[in-house]
Amino acid sequence: MLKNSIKSLAKIMIPEDERRKLRYYINKVYFFGIKYRCPICDSHLRKLKPFGLKFPVLTEKNIIGGGYRLNAQCPVCYSTDRERLLYLYLLSKTKFFSEKAKVLHVAPEDGLKRIIEKYSNIDYLTADINAKNVMVKMDITEINYPTGTFDVIICNHVLEHIIDDEQAMSEIYRVLKPGGWGILQVPISLSLEKTYEDFSVTDPSERETIFGQSDHVRIYGMDYVDRLKTSGFDVNIFNWQKDPEFCECNNKYGLLQSENVFVINKP
Ligand SMILES: [Zn+2]
Repeated sequence: MLKNSIKSLAKIMIPEDERRKLRYYINKVYFFGIKYRCPICDSHLRKLKPFGLKFPVLTEKNIIGGGYRLNAQCPVCYSTDRERLLYLYLLSKTKFFSEKAKVLHVAPEDGLKRIIEKYSNIDYLTADINAKNVMVKMDITEINYPTGTFDVIICNHVLEHIIDDEQAMSEIYRVLKPGGWGILQVPISLSLEKTYEDFSVTDPSERETIFGQSDHVRIYGMDYVDRLKTSGFDVNIFNWQKDPEFCECNNKYGLLQSENVFVINKP
């Protein structure tokens, strides 16, 4: 009751931007602890928050990168497990933050975007088909940039929304420079050998039941890498659980077990 009254009073008296900043610092103190560390907002935390959807298909099909996870979201900056993995991978396994590069970031993760924007070596372009907080509107099945424009493309959890994902992959391939690379994460089922898709399912609640989310059109299976290779990419899979730098820290970054990083290279 008192908490609600304080909240309502704060809403009236403090502008939204200031409230957000205040919430950030309050949460940083309230959740302070030594068990977890969020590299995105540099917080030390006693716990993370649950995150993800609870549709049964997500657990039945063992879909990594989707589904409900107990310790997934940073309570301070709201970064998710997959965003932290991406940042840590870029930071420790690539020269992303030190070399000059033209970077396309599709459907950018907020925390990561804020970090990348600070680096002057990165010529950074953010894009999305719907979101407002990006620099350009972009349909990745028809990228309005010349062949060989970008050194790096990051495009996570987008392909599972696109009916013609082959066209999207081939466009990403086209606009990458030869020798360029990228990261294309998708939710992926460890129990499906072959990707399951059915474009006749258009009803959002039916999609939730079948694919685990109202706007997904498929569940990627273990053949995801083959689909990337068909578009011409060389693919490397980074398994953080087998990397000493990542796994000798008791999962203090709260990463998702079994989530691999799919790194594409244009030969
Ligand atoms: Zn954080």
